Amino acid sequence: MKTFSAAQRNRNIHRMKTESFDLAIIGGGITGAGTSRDATSRGMKVALVEASDFASGTSSRSSKLIHGGIRYLENLEFGLVFEALSERKILFEIAPHLVHPLKFVIPIYKNSKVGMFKMGLGMWLYDVLSMFDAPETHEAINEGDALKRFPLLQSSGLVGAYGYYDAYMDDDRLTIETHRSAFNNGAVSANYVKVVDVIYENSKVVALICKDLIQGDVFQIQAKHFVSSVGPWTDIFGREVLKNWNTVLRPTKGIHLTFDRKRLPLKEAIVMLDDAKNRIVFGIPRHEMIIIGTTDTDYPGNPSDVHTDKLDVEYLLSMIAEYFPGANITEQDIIASYSGVRPLVYDGSATEGKTSREHKIWSDPRNITFVAGGKYTTYRHMAEQIVDFVLEAFPIEERARFAHPNTKKALNEKASHDNFQRALQQTEEWSRAFKKPEAEVRLLAERHGLEALDLLEKSKSENYRSHWQVEAYQAISNAMCLNLDDFYLRRSPLFLSLKDHGDSLLNDIVEVFVKELGWSDSQIKEQIDRLENHKKTEMCWR
Ligand code: FAD
Repeated sequence: MKTFSAAQRNRNIHRMKTESFDLAIIGGGITGAGTSRDATSRGMKVALVEASDFASGTSSRSSKLIHGGIRYLENLEFGLVFEALSERKILFEIAPHLVHPLKFVIPIYKNSKVGMFKMGLGMWLYDVLSMFDAPETHEAINEGDALKRFPLLQSSGLVGAYGYYDAYMDDDRLTIETHRSAFNNGAVSANYVKVVDVIYENSKVVALICKDLIQGDVFQIQAKHFVSSVGPWTDIFGREVLKNWNTVLRPTKGIHLTFDRKRLPLKEAIVMLDDAKNRIVFGIPRHEMIIIGTTDTDYPGNPSDVHTDKLDVEYLLSMIAEYFPGANITEQDIIASYSGVRPLVYDGSATEGKTSREHKIWSDPRNITFVAGGKYTTYRHMAEQIVDFVLEAFPIEERARFAHPNTKKALNEKASHDNFQRALQQTEEWSRAFKKPEAEVRLLAERHGLEALDLLEKSKSENYRSHWQVEAYQAISNAMCLNLDDFYLRRSPLFLSLKDHGDSLLNDIVEVFVKELGWSDSQIKEQIDRLENHKKTEMCWR
């Protein structure tokens, strides 16, 4: 059976070297993954390369929300909100193991810029734009009920609250599952392959020159057309690889902090309004942790160097103190931080916050289609627009042949809407059959749908001792996971959610990597150092 495994990566690179493609995509975040899935669903032959790990750029550093964007209502960006809410509905359907409904509550205070009445109108509009298709329509909450639901909430000046539905997700796994789905359609993709140059013929790019950052060799990918989906690296790619380049981005940095659920016990997500900065900060409860974020500050640096600063941490702690003064949250309570760069397109706005979140697709005469900006939530639709745009570079017969995308089906058939429900219903039976605690089996079913059964069988045959060992196996064999940090940061929530960042699980997890990838002692040390280096760089504020 074809698996999207670490071993498959070598076979894919061999094909990149020896075949030619309709489309070659540069960048394997959610935009590249979505484009690859869309193009292959139309029958195009696609190659995709990612310079680091899949989703290691912005796509694992988001607020992890699939949302209409209540904030955009204020800017009257109704089209953006409608599109996002329509896509939210599709994602619930095609990725139920990755996208989960979540209730959000916005407390309103006497001095809030938007009072109860105006916020109520916004809530109605949000329901209308979602065609009343959220798990529930919005609710008005009185002051007393708001305090019952959030006992630690600032009570002084509170006049009431509104509740509405959106969704949270596993951003990294959504990207990787999208790559996997594209691979099942025929995409030939590889992580840790960087585009370092291009080959021109008659001023048009005809091939990419790529460096395999694992094996070290340099090779070419020939294609009829190229897509750049390098997100916040767009200007760097333009300047360094294409040379003649005018700056297009206004990148901004956003950081998040994670907390133990017991330390900041939120049962529903909270929307904290920073009226002075005209910003929103979310408090998001997930099954493994609480996430607080985000910030939005200009970031002119290289996205590869982004990390959280002391000022970012102080700002988010001050928002928590304002809304939950009784919780006494301090720096010591923070488990981890993460930071990302928004690939926003420069539009002349006065501030970061006012810069549009809309994506932009444009064609470059050098035979490359560029895309930048946008939101996770709308990636599927955005990918469809990108490929439609790309097809304009193709002859009419091929345009007709590749005209119809097919991306509204499950990302993973074993986690289709029905199979996901089936898996959840079978957890008790599997728990008995495999003599495993039901909570552990349920977690597997929630993360993998019916694929959990294959994993339980594997766990039994390999005598795995812990849930995270079987997850490590799944990451290596079905999610092209090559490194320990790929696993800790982008295939599991261990780094972000555990007080010790998952150090106590290290031996168990390394054991699986050694078995599957044949690591030597020196490789194990190198891998642990990589993970430690990430911690030192990202959490240098501590
Ligand atoms: P990236 O994920 O950055 O992918 C670009 C990739 O290109 C990188 O992996 C990079 O390694 C690769 N690359 C660069 N150069 C090369 C090269 N030379 N060769 C090969 N590969 C290369 N959206 C939502 O809908 N919901 C949210 O809750 C949300 N929260 C956000 C919070 C923050 C703080 C930020 C920053 C963004 C948020 N977004 C959210 C927006 C969303 O995360 C981004 O729009 C999306 O992840 C961008 O994905 P991308 O694929 O375009 O870029």
